Amino acid sequence: MFSSKEQFKETFLDKLNGMFGKSLEEASSMDRYMALGAAVRNHIARKWVKTNERYLYKGERQVYYFSIEFLLGRLLGANLLNIGIRRFCQDALGELGIDLNELENLEADAGLGNGGLGRLAACFLDSMASLSLPVHGCGIRYKYGLFEQKIVDGYQMELPDNWLKNGNVWEIRKPDKAVIVRFYGTVRMEARDGRLRFIHENYKPVLAVPYDVPVIGFQNQTVNTLRLWSAETVSAEQGLEYSDLNRCKRLENIQYQYDVDAISEILYPDDTHYEGRVLRLKQQYFFVSAGLQSIVRRYKRKNGTLLEFADKIAIHINDTHPALVIPELMRIFIDEEGMGWEEAWQITVNTVSYTNHTILPEAMEKWPVEIMHHLLPRIYMILQEINERFCRHLWHSFPGDWDKIHQMAVIADDYVHMAHLAIAGSYSVNGVAKIHTEILKKEVLKSFAQTYPYKFNNKTNGITHRRWLLQANPNLARLISRIVGDSWLYHPAYLASLRRYSEDAAFREKVAAIKLANKEKLARHVRNKYGITLDPHSLFDVHVKRIHAYKRQLLNALHILDLYNRLKENPDLDIPPRTFIFAGKAAPGYYLAKRVIKLVNTLAAMVNHDPRIRDKLKVVFLENYSVSLAELIIPAADLSQQISTASKEASGTGNMKFMLNGAITLGTLDGANIEIREEVGDENIIIFGLTADEVLQYYQQGGYRAWDLYHSQPRLQLVLDQLVNGFLPAPGEEFRVIFNSLLHDNDEFFVLKDFFPYAAAQETAGRLFADRQRWGRMAIHNIAHAGFFSSDRTVSEYAVGIWKINPVVIGDPYMVGMDRR
Ligand SMILES: *Cc1c(COP(=O)(O)O)cnc(C)c1O
Repeated sequence: MFSSKEQFKETFLDKLNGMFGKSLEEASSMDRYMALGAAVRNHIARKWVKTNERYLYKGERQVYYFSIEFLLGRLLGANLLNIGIRRFCQDALGELGIDLNELENLEADAGLGNGGLGRLAACFLDSMASLSLPVHGCGIRYKYGLFEQKIVDGYQMELPDNWLKNGNVWEIRKPDKAVIVRFYGTVRMEARDGRLRFIHENYKPVLAVPYDVPVIGFQNQTVNTLRLWSAETVSAEQGLEYSDLNRCKRLENIQYQYDVDAISEILYPDDTHYEGRVLRLKQQYFFVSAGLQSIVRRYKRKNGTLLEFADKIAIHINDTHPALVIPELMRIFIDEEGMGWEEAWQITVNTVSYTNHTILPEAMEKWPVEIMHHLLPRIYMILQEINERFCRHLWHSFPGDWDKIHQMAVIADDYVHMAHLAIAGSYSVNGVAKIHTEILKKEVLKSFAQTYPYKFNNKTNGITHRRWLLQANPNLARLISRIVGDSWLYHPAYLASLRRYSEDAAFREKVAAIKLANKEKLARHVRNKYGITLDPHSLFDVHVKRIHAYKRQLLNALHILDLYNRLKENPDLDIPPRTFIFAGKAAPGYYLAKRVIKLVNTLAAMVNHDPRIRDKLKVVFLENYSVSLAELIIPAADLSQQISTASKEASGTGNMKFMLNGAITLGTLDGANIEIREEVGDENIIIFGLTADEVLQYYQQGGYRAWDLYHSQPRLQLVLDQLVNGFLPAPGEEFRVIFNSLLHDNDEFFVLKDFFPYAAAQETAGRLFADRQRWGRMAIHNIAHAGFFSSDRTVSEYAVGIWKINPVVIGDPYMVGMDRR
């Protein structure tokens, strides 16, 4: 604990001297950032060790959250806030002439995730530590995170994200905790002591080295661990078994080095799309095996036997990417610990729980048997056995129904179906919003839900209100705490006490003034970076998320074109001035999504340069959407576009961040939008479009007739024709693929079908926005009802309903940070 500013300054300067051999004056801003980070890390080191000791010696149940992505963003600001010393450090550094904000902005985002799934894992870590829950993260330390997006001439370019180039002050490498993961090779069977043994031979060993990152709870004494694994070649010092050592000598060649480095080199940039490449499977098995080996090793050191493993350990898999925990646990129990199949299976199933994240067919993971067999021969044998026993079990549920059993099998038609494996091998399967779980149970996984009704449950997603309000919108957070106290920081449901202030005109003024200041800040950023001037009094209409056909950025873009046409025809059209803000990355190989980015940028070029339109419409595409950019954009939003095709967005979490910051949702009845409506009430959200039931019904009848709409609606026809008739300032034929996807491929995502309802909803939004008092009330209602969407609520539900764990309070619960003294 820093006892005073003087002592803090001394520690900071010592770090600066010690790490860089420089005085304060000589040190660069980056040096200063690193020194501050190191001082903060030292500051929590004791708590971190204490937390681990407490977990180890008291023997409460521990949870391990396995995720192939953790989209952490920056850590310095969040850590300072959670420790409770941000204001204290700001003041102390100020006395040294250092701007804390500037240092915070130097930190590279830890972009180890694509979007919602990875960010959810990061929000969960914050809530778990803040609720004093004994949960640890397990993932991969990618050398390169999600690519950096540049927009050049309207097109997306992808640059490598070298986030580690200045080092990472938040991680500690633990080479003594390294383990070996085995790939390829053959399995020999041998009867010994009356038991069949499986010996994996001629494999390629990979050394998995953990890097531990502290996860600091909010104003408590808990510091949990996120363990990220890095792949290295095996070398002699690693204390290997003799056979390993020999093998490695033979393998010490360039190819081996290259293959190993590739494993934790880079994050796959595919969001909700399955990538069937061997390297991806290697990544999955790599961190799963390393994580489990270290868990079992630690458990055995403490307990001796594995009999109570399932009582003491819970393993959660975030989507199916870590589903190999199931056969890998079986392998460890059977091959290394000598258990029988039945016993091993019982422990495994009682240990693992699984979250399903999507029903998009293209996201369902399935691995060719051939690849699985070749890369992981022993795991494949276990998968075959799991499949055989599972199918036999299904026979009891669906006697004689071979079709159904075939559809549900873990291995069928030469593929391993990872979702089926995850359901068969776990005790809990949850969806991420009410409607998503219902669709899972009634449609996509219906047969599974019939077989195992007790496994299925819902856990509606959430976001950490600390990062997404306290940190991202400090002025609003301060205002709220001044009005209703700061209990909402610990109990986000208390935000509801703001509700009655929606009728307080002076309070509305203050909220509006903060929103305006946030918009001005974003406008400054846009002017400095892009030379585009935004009117902070215009309606900031924001659509930021991954670019994907189902998220329908195209619907937004077509509406902008329509609005432009109408304004050209009638310059006096009565609409409030509007700024359309887009941001988001497309997967590098996702051709159509990249064309949508080009379309938005083309519209921006046209609209922003049209002198007759300029004061009414602006369009900007901000490059490189990331956590830190989201923290700048979301507090500045008036309107939150959540317009996915109903049934497609499992939950969404962007929607929650926006409402928490007082933006009004313009959305479809999809994912968590439905629950947002339940919370805020019909009058505080703008809903339009097809329902999930209607969409699913259309799919059953083979879609609708997009051409009929085209021919019967002149406004829509004009917009669609303008995509391909040279009207837009872009190379000819540029948007033909978009035109074709809507008309020739029959508009799979109902963009045209929802076009007029959307336009009407946009008109409603404009009208409501023009009534400042009304809009202000709606904004406050949204903030007041956002408490339910805190990940504290979500994680508590996981703790009680799935993991069956209790908080483990570390140290003195009344210790608070300097900021509150
Ligand atoms: C919250 C978040 C997402 C998820 O947004 P959705 O609108 O739910 O798709 C994606 N990327 C980043 C950087 C985020 O912070």
